[in-house]
Amino acid sequence: MTKEVGSGIRIGQAIDVHALAAGRPLVLGGVAIPYERGLVGHSDGDALLHAIASAILGALGEGDLGRHFPSSDERYRGIASSELVDQVVFRMRAAGFRLGNLDATVVAQVPRLAPHQAAMQARVAALLGAPAERVNIKLTSTDHLGAIGRGEGIAALAVVLLEAVDAAPGGRSELESKA
Ligand SMILES: [Zn+2]
Repeated sequence: MTKEVGSGIRIGQAIDVHALAAGRPLVLGGVAIPYERGLVGHSDGDALLHAIASAILGALGEGDLGRHFPSSDERYRGIASSELVDQVVFRMRAAGFRLGNLDATVVAQVPRLAPHQAAMQARVAALLGAPAERVNIKLTSTDHLGAIGRGEGIAALAVVLLEAVDAAPGGRSELESKA
Protein backbone atom coordinates (compact mmCIF):
# COMPACT_ATOMS: atom_id res chain seq x y z
CA MET A 1 0.00 0.00 0.00
CA THR A 2 2.99 2.31 -0.07
CA LYS A 3 3.14 5.15 -2.59
CA GLU A 4 5.66 4.54 -5.36
CA VAL A 5 8.45 7.09 -5.02
CA GLY A 6 11.10 5.41 -7.13
CA SER A 7 13.93 5.15 -4.64
CA GLY A 8 14.67 3.61 -1.26
CA ILE A 9 16.14 6.82 0.16
CA ARG A 10 15.10 10.46 0.02
CA ILE A 11 16.92 13.58 1.26
CA GLY A 12 15.38 16.84 2.43
CA GLN A 13 16.62 20.09 3.92
CA ALA A 14 15.09 23.24 5.37
CA ILE A 15 15.83 26.44 7.27
CA ASP A 16 13.52 28.35 9.58
CA VAL A 17 13.96 31.63 11.46
CA HIS A 18 11.80 33.27 14.13
CA ALA A 19 12.16 36.52 16.05
CA LEU A 20 12.54 36.58 19.84
CA ALA A 21 10.12 38.76 21.78
CA ALA A 22 9.08 39.34 25.36
CA GLY A 23 5.90 37.71 26.60
CA ARG A 24 6.34 34.51 24.61
CA PRO A 25 7.37 31.07 25.94
CA LEU A 26 10.54 29.71 24.36
CA VAL A 27 10.06 26.24 22.87
CA LEU A 28 12.78 24.58 20.79
CA GLY A 29 12.76 21.00 19.63
CA GLY A 30 9.55 20.56 21.59
CA VAL A 31 11.34 21.44 24.84
CA ALA A 32 10.28 24.41 26.99
CA ILE A 33 13.36 26.49 27.76
CA PRO A 34 13.32 29.02 30.60
CA TYR A 35 14.14 32.48 29.16
CA GLU A 36 12.68 35.97 29.41
CA ARG A 37 11.74 36.00 25.70
CA GLY A 38 10.30 33.45 23.28
CA LEU A 39 9.91 32.90 19.55
CA VAL A 40 7.18 34.81 17.73
CA GLY A 41 4.99 32.82 15.37
CA HIS A 42 1.49 31.80 14.38
CA SER A 43 2.20 28.51 16.19
CA ASP A 44 4.56 28.31 19.16
CA GLY A 45 7.39 29.49 16.87
CA ASP A 46 9.52 26.37 17.40
CA ALA A 47 12.06 27.02 14.61
CA LEU A 48 13.82 23.70 15.13
CA LEU A 49 10.68 21.58 14.77
CA HIS A 50 9.58 23.69 11.80
CA ALA A 51 12.90 23.11 10.01
CA ILE A 52 12.71 19.38 10.74
CA ALA A 53 9.09 19.05 9.59
CA SER A 54 9.75 21.08 6.46
CA ALA A 55 12.82 18.98 5.63
CA ILE A 56 10.74 15.80 5.91
CA LEU A 57 8.07 17.27 3.63
CA GLY A 58 10.85 18.22 1.22
CA ALA A 59 12.20 14.69 1.21
CA LEU A 60 8.69 13.44 0.43
CA GLY A 61 8.38 15.96 -2.40
CA GLU A 62 5.39 17.51 -0.63
CA GLY A 63 6.30 21.19 -0.61
CA ASP A 64 6.87 22.95 2.69
CA LEU A 65 5.32 23.51 6.09
CA GLY A 66 3.52 26.70 5.03
CA ARG A 67 1.66 24.80 2.31
CA HIS A 68 0.34 22.20 4.73
CA PHE A 69 -0.25 24.48 7.72
CA PRO A 70 -0.87 28.02 6.37
CA SER A 71 -0.57 30.83 8.92
CA SER A 72 -3.85 32.18 7.51
CA ASP A 73 -5.59 29.12 8.98
CA GLU A 74 -6.96 29.85 12.44
CA ARG A 75 -6.84 26.15 13.34
CA TYR A 76 -3.09 26.45 13.69
CA ARG A 77 -3.00 29.58 15.86
CA GLY A 78 -0.97 28.87 18.97
CA ILE A 79 -0.66 25.17 18.08
CA ALA A 80 2.23 23.22 19.59
CA SER A 81 4.64 22.52 16.75
CA SER A 82 4.93 18.95 18.03
CA GLU A 83 1.39 18.47 16.66
CA LEU A 84 2.55 19.66 13.23
CA VAL A 85 5.45 17.20 13.41
CA ASP A 86 3.01 14.42 14.35
CA GLN A 87 1.03 15.12 11.20
CA VAL A 88 4.16 15.24 9.02
CA VAL A 89 5.40 11.95 10.52
CA PHE A 90 1.99 10.45 9.71
CA ARG A 91 2.47 11.50 6.07
CA MET A 92 6.01 10.10 6.07
CA ARG A 93 4.77 6.71 7.29
CA ALA A 94 1.83 6.73 4.88
CA ALA A 95 4.35 7.22 2.06
CA GLY A 96 6.27 4.16 3.29
CA PHE A 97 9.25 5.92 4.87
CA ARG A 98 10.93 6.24 8.22
CA LEU A 99 13.80 8.39 9.42
CA GLY A 100 17.23 7.27 8.25
CA ASN A 101 18.91 10.09 10.12
CA LEU A 102 18.49 13.75 10.97
CA ASP A 103 21.23 16.34 11.35
CA ALA A 104 20.06 19.73 12.55
CA THR A 105 21.75 22.95 13.65
CA VAL A 106 20.26 25.60 15.91
CA VAL A 107 21.81 29.05 15.43
CA ALA A 108 21.30 31.16 18.55
CA GLN A 109 23.36 33.75 20.38
CA VAL A 110 20.99 33.71 23.34
CA PRO A 111 19.97 31.96 25.45
CA ARG A 112 22.61 29.36 26.12
CA LEU A 113 21.07 26.14 24.81
CA ALA A 114 23.78 23.61 25.66
CA PRO A 115 22.07 22.55 28.94
CA HIS A 116 18.98 21.60 26.88
CA GLN A 117 20.70 19.87 23.97
CA ALA A 118 20.21 16.31 25.24
CA ALA A 119 16.54 16.94 26.08
CA MET A 120 15.91 18.40 22.61
CA GLN A 121 17.60 15.43 20.98
CA ALA A 122 15.54 12.94 22.99
CA ARG A 123 12.30 14.80 22.37
CA VAL A 124 12.88 15.09 18.62
CA ALA A 125 13.77 11.39 18.36
CA ALA A 126 10.57 10.49 20.23
CA LEU A 127 8.46 12.73 17.98
CA LEU A 128 9.98 11.12 14.89
CA GLY A 129 9.66 7.59 16.29
CA ALA A 130 13.37 7.10 15.73
CA PRO A 131 16.21 5.73 17.86
CA ALA A 132 18.10 8.56 19.60
CA GLU A 133 21.33 7.77 17.76
CA ARG A 134 19.68 8.69 14.45
CA VAL A 135 19.04 12.25 15.62
CA ASN A 136 21.87 14.78 15.89
CA ILE A 137 21.25 18.34 17.03
CA LYS A 138 24.10 20.82 16.91
CA LEU A 139 24.25 24.25 18.51
CA THR A 140 26.11 27.28 17.26
CA SER A 141 26.07 31.07 17.44
CA THR A 142 26.95 33.68 14.81
CA ASP A 143 29.77 35.06 16.98
CA HIS A 144 27.65 38.17 17.66
CA LEU A 145 27.30 38.96 13.94
CA GLY A 146 23.98 40.08 12.46
CA ALA A 147 20.44 39.94 13.80
CA ILE A 148 20.84 36.54 15.43
CA GLY A 149 24.12 37.71 16.95
CA ARG A 150 22.24 40.64 18.50
CA GLY A 151 19.79 38.18 20.03
CA GLU A 152 16.89 39.28 17.84
CA GLY A 153 15.95 35.77 16.77
CA ILE A 154 16.87 32.11 16.41
CA ALA A 155 17.39 30.07 13.24
CA ALA A 156 17.42 26.33 12.67
CA LEU A 157 18.59 24.21 9.76
CA ALA A 158 17.78 20.56 9.20
CA VAL A 159 18.83 17.83 6.80
CA VAL A 160 16.97 14.52 6.85
CA LEU A 161 17.49 11.24 5.12
CA LEU A 162 14.41 9.05 4.86
CA GLU A 163 14.57 5.36 4.08
CA ALA A 164 11.83 3.22 2.61
CA VAL A 165 10.59 0.91 5.33
CA ASP A 166 10.71 -2.20 3.15
CA ALA A 167 14.27 -1.41 1.99
CA ALA A 168 15.56 -0.84 5.51
CA PRO A 169 17.84 -3.28 7.31
CA GLY A 170 15.69 -5.66 9.30
CA GLY A 171 13.46 -6.56 6.42
CA ARG A 172 9.74 -6.29 5.82
CA SER A 173 7.60 -3.47 7.08
CA GLU A 174 4.62 -3.59 9.40
CA LEU A 175 2.54 -2.20 6.53
CA GLU A 176 3.51 -5.08 4.32
CA SER A 177 3.12 -7.81 6.90
CA LYS A 178 -0.44 -6.57 7.47
CA ALA A 179 -1.14 -6.42 3.74
ZN1 LIG B 1 8.69 28.54 11.63
